[in-house]
Amino acid sequence: GDLEVSVPVQSKDEYGKVIQTFNDMTLRLREAEDARKRLVADITHELRTPLSIMQLKLENYQQAGHHVPPEMLRIHDEVIRLSLLVDDLHVLSLAEAGRLPLDCKPLDLTAHLERIVDDVKYEAEENGLEIRLNSISRPVTVMADARRITQVFINLLTNAIRYTASGGTITVEIEERVVERNALFACVSVIDTGIGIPAEELLHLFDRFYRVEEARSRHTGGTGLGLSIAHHFVRAHGGFIQVSSQPDEGTVFTVNLPIGSSTCAADTAIQIVQ
Ligand code: ADP
Repeated sequence: GDLEVSVPVQSKDEYGKVIQTFNDMTLRLREAEDARKRLVADITHELRTPLSIMQLKLENYQQAGHHVPPEMLRIHDEVIRLSLLVDDLHVLSLAEAGRLPLDCKPLDLTAHLERIVDDVKYEAEENGLEIRLNSISRPVTVMADARRITQVFINLLTNAIRYTASGGTITVEIEERVVERNALFACVSVIDTGIGIPAEELLHLFDRFYRVEEARSRHTGGTGLGLSIAHHFVRAHGGFIQVSSQPDEGTVFTVNLPIGSSTCAADTAIQIVQ
């Protein structure tokens, strides 16, 4: 979590000095942490331009009708992979630093999720999965950046598809709930009947590059950033994500977005439901 510790100094004796030193160290740690976030944001920003130039040049060459050697196709694939990774790291570092630009407008989640589910339907069905949307039949409107919210649900749905074997079901549910201190939230659950996640892994799930059992996840083609991005994007909207899972039975991720102007404390942004 974020470092927000500072202890009031009440005496000038040895004890007071220890507290002062502790506070200085906390401050320095926080400064170093902020500098790290800025550095990642700056580096990834600088990497984006040369990468898109490389991608463009490779595509122009292919379109010009030249014979394209297989090595070149391989380079093209890797350049695309690297661009996606750099883009993900860039938005993630901005969101972590609380500097993610959000273009918030009233967004009807019911209609928005219909479109998103439609977009991933083909991929789900290709993998032998049934995907369905259970929504309340009226608009559920939140103030949100549609593009960021799309990425949150695409990340969750892509995972549900990746980690559920053929024959399984993915269900998306929307409801309105009073969650905390009488605040009304739009709650969207992505429920899969997949491989599930062991309880001891749940806490690390939202960490950068974290993957449950490297070997299990490696061949699925993700970057390990999907859930961190989802978490930080939802948090930037004043919301939080809940997860509950049962190995071999399935996983439920619930995205809770405030309806109205409520916000929630940063350190409650992830909740593990036992
Ligand atoms: P990745 O790019 O590896 O999918 P994510 O951050 O999206 O990275 O997810 C982190 C890890 O969490 C995954 O590697 C996978 O082990 C696990 N995971 C995420 N979603 C699910 C799910 N729906 N079912 C089972 N495991 C999941």
